[in-house]
Amino acid sequence: LVSRELHPAPSVIKVGDVTIGGDRLVVIAGPCGVEDRKRTLDIARTVRKHGAVLFRGGAFKPRTSPYSFQGLGEEGLKILREVREETGLGVVTEITSPSQADLMVKYVDVVQVGARNMQNFELLKSVGRIGKPVLLKRGLSATIEEWLMSAEYVLSEGNDQVILCERGIRTFERYTRNTLDLTAVPVIKKLTHLPIIVDPSHATGIREKVSPMARASIAAGADGLIIEVHTEPDKALSDGPQSLYPEQFEQLMRDLYVIAPVV
Ligand code: PEP
Ligand code: MN
Repeated sequence: LVSRELHPAPSVIKVGDVTIGGDRLVVIAGPCGVEDRKRTLDIARTVRKHGAVLFRGGAFKPRTSPYSFQGLGEEGLKILREVREETGLGVVTEITSPSQADLMVKYVDVVQVGARNMQNFELLKSVGRIGKPVLLKRGLSATIEEWLMSAEYVLSEGNDQVILCERGIRTFERYTRNTLDLTAVPVIKKLTHLPIIVDPSHATGIREKVSPMARASIAAGADGLIIEVHTEPDKALSDGPQSLYPEQFEQLMRDLYVIAPVV
């Protein structure tokens, strides 16, 4: 179902009046996690002002350590709903268990499957049944073929609204958090009709490396970006070191206009 051979026309995924995979770039921005109401709304207003068309923020955080901030759960989803009501931005958040499916239906516009869950097949089937657009991140050590088979799980449940997201893979290189595999963009474009966006934040883990990799992703033909932005990255409860300051995000959005038209 994901193959481009049987479905040559690129798929365009609609989220409200935003289209992903069409002529225009889509930039999704926001904090790693939803931390509190005021800060989340502040970040949402900021990224919207600079041209983001969807908002990201995790309420269920898949952290490496059980002692790290785990997210606000349903309280976080309520804050995301408020973001949508106030700013009009559709919201993207991660699902970490099939038991959260009803909450996702109720509160969010795009359901994210994180890198660590790319081969959680029961989770893939459950997001297939939710029927909302799915942002499917590439696993930390997944081949492109494995990643596409995970997308196939979602489509095989009757949900063809899948957006692929390259977010870097684990290699021997430790200077950056992961190694951004930009080759994935043209390869995915050849193999499947599904749109692909890039997450330069998790791919690099280093704030200064985010904008160059974001620009390169668009030059390589990605349909959009998902970027972590925080008004006070030093105080962020997760992924502060890779979160852009609002001024950096603003500058990046200006630079992207030069490469391609942004929504
Ligand atoms: C995230 O988007 O905050 C996240 C945890 O990403 P990934 O699953 O790519 O590590
Ligand atoms: Mn993060």
